[in-house]
Formats: sequence, C-alpha cells, structure tokens
Amino acid sequence: MQQKHRRLHTFPLDPWMIRETGFDIDSHFLDESLFALGNGYIGLRGTHEESYSGPQDSTRDGCYLNGFYENEEIHYPEAAYGLAKQNEFMLNVPNGKGIDCWIEDEKLDLLQGELRAYERTLDFRTGILTRQFEWISPQGRHLAVRSRRIVCLARKHVYALQYEIEAINFSGHIRLSASLDGAVRNLEAGDDPRVGSAVTGPSLHLLDIEQHGGYSALTQRTANSGFSLVSAVDAEVKAGGVVTLAQSVHDQRIETHFDFALAQGDKASLLKFGCYFSSRDYPAPTLAMRAKEALKQAMADGYDLLCAEQQEYLGNYWQRADVEIAGDDALQQGMRFNQFHLLQSVGRDGKTNIAAKGLTGEGYEGHYFWDTEIYILPFFLYTKPDIARKLLEYRYTGLAKARERARQMAHARGALYPWRTIAGEECSAYFPAGTAQYHINADIAYSIKQYVEVTGDRDYLAQYGAEIVLDTARIWIGIGCYPPGQPERFCINEVTGPDEYTALVNNNYYTNIMAQMHLRYAADVAERLMYDDPAAFARVAAAIELEPHEIAEWRRAADAMFLPTDERTGIHPQDDSFLSKKVWDFAATPKTKYPLLLHFHPLVIYRHQVCKQADIVLALLLQGDRFTLEEKRHDFDYYEKVTTHDSSLSSCIFSIIASEVGYHDKAYAYFMETARLDLDDTHGNTCHGVHTAAMAGTWLGVACGFAGMRVYQGALRFAPTLPARWSHYQFRIHVRGHLLQIRIAADGVEYRLLGGNAVADTALVFHHHGQAVQLSAVSPSQTLPLVPA
Ligand code: BGC
Repeated sequence: MQQKHRRLHTFPLDPWMIRETGFDIDSHFLDESLFALGNGYIGLRGTHEESYSGPQDSTRDGCYLNGFYENEEIHYPEAAYGLAKQNEFMLNVPNGKGIDCWIEDEKLDLLQGELRAYERTLDFRTGILTRQFEWISPQGRHLAVRSRRIVCLARKHVYALQYEIEAINFSGHIRLSASLDGAVRNLEAGDDPRVGSAVTGPSLHLLDIEQHGGYSALTQRTANSGFSLVSAVDAEVKAGGVVTLAQSVHDQRIETHFDFALAQGDKASLLKFGCYFSSRDYPAPTLAMRAKEALKQAMADGYDLLCAEQQEYLGNYWQRADVEIAGDDALQQGMRFNQFHLLQSVGRDGKTNIAAKGLTGEGYEGHYFWDTEIYILPFFLYTKPDIARKLLEYRYTGLAKARERARQMAHARGALYPWRTIAGEECSAYFPAGTAQYHINADIAYSIKQYVEVTGDRDYLAQYGAEIVLDTARIWIGIGCYPPGQPERFCINEVTGPDEYTALVNNNYYTNIMAQMHLRYAADVAERLMYDDPAAFARVAAAIELEPHEIAEWRRAADAMFLPTDERTGIHPQDDSFLSKKVWDFAATPKTKYPLLLHFHPLVIYRHQVCKQADIVLALLLQGDRFTLEEKRHDFDYYEKVTTHDSSLSSCIFSIIASEVGYHDKAYAYFMETARLDLDDTHGNTCHGVHTAAMAGTWLGVACGFAGMRVYQGALRFAPTLPARWSHYQFRIHVRGHLLQIRIAADGVEYRLLGGNAVADTALVFHHHGQAVQLSAVSPSQTLPLVPA
C-alpha cells in the first residue's frame, strides 16, 4: 500500500518520549510500529485496545514472538540445484490486547462519535504506553478513558494492560469485553520484496481452548515447524457494584464479558495480564501449566509492581546506554527512541537474535541478517555486553545448519551462514542478493573478534567463537582461487558484496578485505588457542577435523588477497567490473523512482554504477587502519556520487566516514537521515516495522562518527569532534570491565571512569587524537582539548 508520509517532527520534541496528541487514520498504520512494545521475546504492535473500524489498509495488527516461526516450502517457477528450499517466517500469534467497551447498546469506536483530549505517549524511562481520551458517543454519552500497557522487560513471557473508564455525564450499563483472538494470519506477499511471506491462510491450528472465570487460553500448533504455543490472558474488573461475567467463543476468538452498572462520576477498571509459552522453550505438555502460573504470579504481584520492575530495568539500561545530545532536541528524541526500540527488539536467550524490523512488524518476515553483527552488535557490545554475548551464542547454535548449507553449496569442508534466517536455515529465495553475500561469514568472524577484544571474554572464544571462526574461514579457501599463472594473487569470484545493486561479481573489495581479516584472525586464534588452552584447541580441531596444513593455507591466501587500486581514478574499485559500467543517469531519475528496486528490473540496475548502500565505504570503517586518510577521502568522494542510500543501512556509514575525513556538514546531514529515519518515516515503510540496523547506526554515528572511536588491533582510540549545533554530547561504553564516560564539549573532552567490575583496579589505556591517556581508580578522569594543539 502507498503509505502517506508523516510530516516532519509531528511528535512534540520531548527527549524521553513520543507523544501523539491527535488520532489520525493516515498515520495509524505507521503509529502501530512506532508505539509497539516488546521485551526481546514478545512484540505487540501499537494498536488500540478497542476494535478498529477504519480502512483495512490503515492497519496491520500483530503480535509476535522472537524466534517463533513456521516453515513453508519455497516454490520456484524454475528450480535450480541448491536453491534455498524452506522459508522460515515469524508468525503472527494470538492477540490478547483487545478490550471493547459498550455503554448500553453503543460500542466505543474511536471513529464514531466525538473524540476529545486524545493523547498517547510512549515513555522510554518507564516503558509504559499510556493513552487517554474522552469520547462522546453518537447518542451523547460522555466517557473518559485511560489505558496503560507494558510488555515486561523483566519477565520474558508476560505483558499487562490496565483500562480505566469514567462516566462523565451518564449512568448506565457497561460491558467491558477482554478478548484473546487466535484467528490470526500473516501478511501475504505483494510486489514489494521486503514485505510478506508466500503463505496463505492461517498457520496456527487449534488444539485446545480453556476458559474459566477471567482466564482464557488457546493451545495451537504450527503445521510444519511443529511447535506448540499456549497464549493466555487473565482479566478482572474493579467497579463499585456487582460485576457479572460471561464468556463467548467464536472462531478461536475468546471473549470474557464483564457487565456492571456505572453511575455518573464513577470509575471502573479492567486489568488484563497476558502471556505466551511455546515449545521452542519448554516441553509442550508443560506449556499450559506454565502459562497459568505466570499469570497467577503476575496478578498476585499486581500491575503496579510490574510497572516498578519495568522502570527499574530501564533505569539500569539508561544508566549505561544513554547518549545525551545537548543542542538538538529532534536528534535527542530520535536517539533515545532508537535505543529504546533496540532494547525492545533484541533476543537475549542465546537462541534468538534481532530481526531487521525487530518485533514491530512483518517486514523481512522476522529474519535475522548481517545487520546484527555489523550494526547492532557493536551497540550492545559497548552498552550491554551480556546481550552481545547472547547474540554471538545464537550464531553458535546455527553452526550445524551452516555446515549443512556449506555441503549443499559444494564446499567439502567449512560452514556457510545463511544470508537471512530465523532458526539457521537459508531463507533467501533470491540468491544473487542472498546466498551470494558470502561476506556474512567474515562479518560474523569480525564481530567475534571485536567482542573478544573489547570485553576480554576469552571464555566465549574457547567455548564457541573459535569453532565458528575457524570453520567459516575455510569457505574462503573453498570459493577463492589463484588464477592460472598468478600464484601471488588470491581471488574470490561470483559473490555479492553489501551493495545489493551490484550482484554476482568477482573480487568485491569489501568481501576480499574482510575475508583477508577473517583468514588471518582464524590462523591467529588457532595458534593462540593451541598455546594458551591446548584442551580447548584439541576439542575445536576434533570438532571441525582441522588438518595441519590448513592454517598455513589461510595465511597464504590472506597474504595474496587481491585488493587492487584503480590506476585511472586512484580509488578502490568495488569489484572487478564496477568501474567499467556506465554510471546510472541520476539526473534523469525522478524522486518517485526511488527506491530503484521497486521500479527497475535487477538486471537494469546491475548493469550500472549505482549503489544501494555503503560497500567500499563500509570497508573504510571496518578496516580503517588499512587505508590512509587521503584514500578514504577519495573513495568517499567517488562512491557518494553513485550511492542512492535506498537501503536504510547506508547513511550512518557515510556519516561516520564523512566525520573522519573532515566533511562535517555532510557527516551531520547523513546522521540526521539515520537518527529519525523511523520517527519521520523517511523510507516510507516503517509501517511494516522499524529499521533496527539504522537505529543502531545512530549510536555508531555518535561513537564512531563524531567521537571517532575505533578499536584497531585491540587498541581503543578516539578522535572527537563537536557538531556545530551541539553544545555538548556524552555517552558511556563498557570496555574490558570498565565503564568509561566520554563528554565532548567545546572547552574539552572529559574521559571519566565510572567504575566497573572485577578488573576495575587495572588501568584503562587509550588514545585521544593520538595522545595516550591512562585512567585508573586513583586517577579516574582526564580532560583534554577538543582540538589537539
Ligand atoms: C539491505 C541489506 C539488509 C536488509 C535487511 C536490505 O535492504 O540491502 O543489507 O541486510 O535490507 O535490513
């Protein structure tokens, strides 16, 4: 559907919340994503409690569980060997948000009667979604409503709603109906490849319904993936007088109706607690019991306690993760909004990950991509390293499937990670922009390297990381070659780099330089483990049947990796053929033709020099110590001219490199593009879910962009700048057990240790514009000039 664009800065620029002051059908679909709640497991779109009577294309209600999916066979009109066979897609699960209110024979409907004093807020400090409004029914009954909703960050399976009403000008009979709707479906695919799955019809099949008192539960099962799910809600009403209770079931929709009399001036409230338990986590026969116990406990603890827990959880989060930007309220709001959604979206049980759209919509079907390792993981690495570790543990759980996939792709040894997946299966049906992106293997190795360097967690490396790094490195030997007669040149052919507007090329520079890093790291890890922890090395070597000659083979290929500079332009060519193609005619392409992928056949795009996103420019960031500043400037200048930024993953990377090469205005402009990408719906598709990689890219834009943070060979460095509009900015990072606060202002950059864990008595050493700085418990802070003398 054509999404109407939200006007810029529709929400007041409050630094800690988004606030909607009017109800607008045109932005309703989008608001469902923006006001979504989640806890890394459950995701509830921000629909209203009352049934919605607006146009079908202005809503897409949804409730999702991270990692809870159904399989479907991928049908190709023309099959070929080795194409991905099974898609996994995140399921829309029973909806327990619904509450309907009847006054006599009139049903509360926001689109009927008159709506007054409407306000909805999502507060990033409390995690509570609050809505209040007054409604005057077509027959003139005046009602005040206040609803509050949370998805508990501290209780994986539980969410809660509170719905209060007040009779302003009438006395009468009220019915409050709390529903649990199991007749849900997923979005079906249309022309936009980024949205919907090929499935038709419902995916969850009913096994059992339980209903007694205010308690309702549905047990369902997926047909193909074979998972059981129990979705349950328990509700109670508090009103002045007698409340009677009735139940109804219609097509997997269970309702509990509470009937009572409400006198003018009186209030009543409905409390509803909900939960989900699936056989991905627990044995199927125990699910119903677990659901009952979780809700019993939540009800006994009460809504206020759950809210207090929520606030405490978020208090701890913000204490570490908050980025303060003084001088630009719009950015400040965008930054915190993004960080809030990242926390809501990220799986933290080691079995799940973070989807491209988090848990806020069905865009990209709930799949996990390289977005995690290259964009999102660094954010958690520095702010919540425990979550970063869980994200990397997730990759270990997928190693067996990655090995299987490697065999399907004719690699006799090694592991090849899927381009997009939920449970480890390759789900990319379009291999030129999917499976061909072999760089995912190097991206994962890169993030393991970063994680170990920044946290010092060698335990992860010995237990999980080494096996991944070594087994995935082998794939480069499998797909690379020394062309006939050129034993000094190692080439990697027929791959796709990050830029999806160029596919199936030889020697994609990004892939080659990342593969080189990967091969060297694998050799280093193997040799160091052999020395430090022979038992762990023996286990890994046995698990992957490592042969003695392989380590030398990796080093040789890395040393011979083909990484050319183009003689004519002096830049690094994106691949062997990129610079020989004609440049896309940007002048003749109207704005309405973007993103190009929705208006041109892939072949048309592939024949041109045109980039969807940062490719070489991303290499300049991730392998930054391999390039001079002059080279970076050259590459930036060239690739900026041919990049459309049709991918939301692009602008933040351009912002970071623009900062580094001294293009401060551009750095700011690209940063603005990223920071409010979802809030302002600049890509026009946030209705299908927020863009988690870009959200994390905002944090990277501050830390790696404006503050110039890099870790090269394990050494931390900063090269801070201060955007002209800001009076100061501040953020905190976890590094090797220390919590370091960096405050950048015109009169100096203050580095301060805030304490940490066991190693806090060791010193932290890093560089500020090339000058060594050492902080420790005895000298925990130092202020240095913003601009080096
Ligand atoms: C980008 C990919 C990305 C995917 C999911 C695509 O548009 O080109 O790089 O992984 O979106 O965010």
